[in-house]
Amino acid sequence: MVTFNVRTKNKTVSIIVCFLLALFFIIFSKYVEQHKDMVFGFGDMKLPATSFLGIVQAVIGLLCIIMVCIDYKMGRVLALFYMLGSIFFMFVNIVRTGDMSSLPGIYNSIITIVSVLIISNGLAKADKRAVTDFLTGLRNRRGLVTLIDRSIRDKKSFSVVYFEIENFRTINDNLGHKYGDVALKTVANKLMEIENEDNVYVSRIGGAEFAAVVFGSIDPKNFAEKVIDKIGTSVTNADDIDIRLSLSVYSGICSYPGDANNADDILKYADIAVYTARTAHSKNRICYFDKEMKEKLFRQIELDRMVRDSLAHDYFYLVYQPQYDINTKELRGFETLLRLKTPDGVNISPGEFIPVIEKSELIMKVDSYVIRRALKEAKAMVDAKGNNIVISINVSAKNISSHGFVAEIKEALKESGFPPKCLEIEITEYSFAEDNVVTTENVTELRALGIQIALDDFGTGYTSLSQVMRLPVNLLKIDKSLIDDIENNQINRDFVDAIIYMGHLMDCEVISEGVESDKQLGLLKAHECDFIQGFVWGKPMEYEQAVELCK
Ligand code: C2E
Ligand code: MG
Ligand code: MG
Repeated sequence: MVTFNVRTKNKTVSIIVCFLLALFFIIFSKYVEQHKDMVFGFGDMKLPATSFLGIVQAVIGLLCIIMVCIDYKMGRVLALFYMLGSIFFMFVNIVRTGDMSSLPGIYNSIITIVSVLIISNGLAKADKRAVTDFLTGLRNRRGLVTLIDRSIRDKKSFSVVYFEIENFRTINDNLGHKYGDVALKTVANKLMEIENEDNVYVSRIGGAEFAAVVFGSIDPKNFAEKVIDKIGTSVTNADDIDIRLSLSVYSGICSYPGDANNADDILKYADIAVYTARTAHSKNRICYFDKEMKEKLFRQIELDRMVRDSLAHDYFYLVYQPQYDINTKELRGFETLLRLKTPDGVNISPGEFIPVIEKSELIMKVDSYVIRRALKEAKAMVDAKGNNIVISINVSAKNISSHGFVAEIKEALKESGFPPKCLEIEITEYSFAEDNVVTTENVTELRALGIQIALDDFGTGYTSLSQVMRLPVNLLKIDKSLIDDIENNQINRDFVDAIIYMGHLMDCEVISEGVESDKQLGLLKAHECDFIQGFVWGKPMEYEQAVELCK
């Protein structure tokens, strides 16, 4: 809130102090009024009572303005009470005695009243602006939090219903921000219509995210359905732009006091519920926040903390899984795989913690750690093999699409003296899914340095065939999920065959990962796969073992 940034209790104390001071000065001025012949002396300076009264009145006016600044609502009431009161008494005095000497006082009081009204109005407007979304005129996040805090204080039960418009970015990207703004205003207008009908309070809390606080007997799910129905259907806007939209909306619900007991958690949980609805990949889904989501969230927080601890105290280590030529069984190289072992001996799989930290910037730090450590350690393997093996390092989509990535690799190569041609960077198809220009630039630059690029988990989705054909990679890694069923599933077999064929057309080599049986091995050989990585010929091994294998 605007006004002084003091807590409510301090505010009340400050206002009471001002009020009492003003009261003292009023009583004092009444006393002086009755002793007009008094003269006040300050050293050599002599001040007649009437001049002194003017000063006292100015001080009272100033106190009124200070009260308004402390709390414009309470301050305005008290200030008006004082000023109107003093005008009344001065006026009565003039009428009764005919003595016009109070007239400047009345004039002073009127000026103070006008100042108080202007300042309090300005503060009220600023206060409103602070809780209003400038684009849609709805409450903003701050307004929503204030409403939630107040409802909790008043011990009212309620639900927060979050809405996220999924395809909003497409509107912004394809039609431009002007259309995006119109779309948001249209959604806001629809929400306002519902707000007027029901006992709900709607707000816009971010880009294309809206939230409503639902009170009383209204069922939050019915309300969410109503909103999704209203927003999700085609809408037209009357502004200068005529726009027809079909929006897919997701909704997440979190209730007070059942799910959480403060505004921060309520909003966080509603956001998690909406995320769950969105990742369920079904249109117009509504999700209640539940215990399972809470446990998942706590596990994610725990994993995040463990990863930070591991970076700080070096609980990480690397293992190396060998890759072999499918025909000669000659060692091609190793994939470096990260391991986390806590001081109490618990192993946490990268399959669990990598997806969690990939959502934050933490993945950048972990990738950097792996790159530096892998290049330093694997130098011994490369030396033992006379620069004739490849060391593969997994790099997240966030990293490969960042501007400083190539510079970081160059520096790590220089630091370790590792030969670039023995380094392979593994990225997933997902890295190219959004047609990221920086990713393509980075990959091209890395290739120019002689570094190899592998496309990991290939065949699990994301990229279209035409995109794949254009990717500047030199190795396709067929995902384990396709290999698992290859013996019994003809479709998978055909699919793997097609990938190998396509890889060769693209001038790429092809490796299959997760190969566990001789039968799978035989089939892959028949389909002319180049390399394999899997338990059938070698599990991930410790550093010393890997160096030994190279000798
Ligand atoms: P990925 O890069 O696809 O790694 C292959 C995963 O399959 C590894 O699991 C490996 O141990 C496992 N695997 C290989 N052959 C077989 C097999 O024959 N049978 C079975 N059951 N599993 C096999 P891991 O080490 O648990 O890694 C899981 C995922 O974690 C990796 O998938 C990768 O996406 C990520 N990851 C691992 N290390 C790193 C790293 O240093 N940086 C980044 N960014 N991600 C990493
Ligand atoms: Mg990999
Ligand atoms: Mg993989």
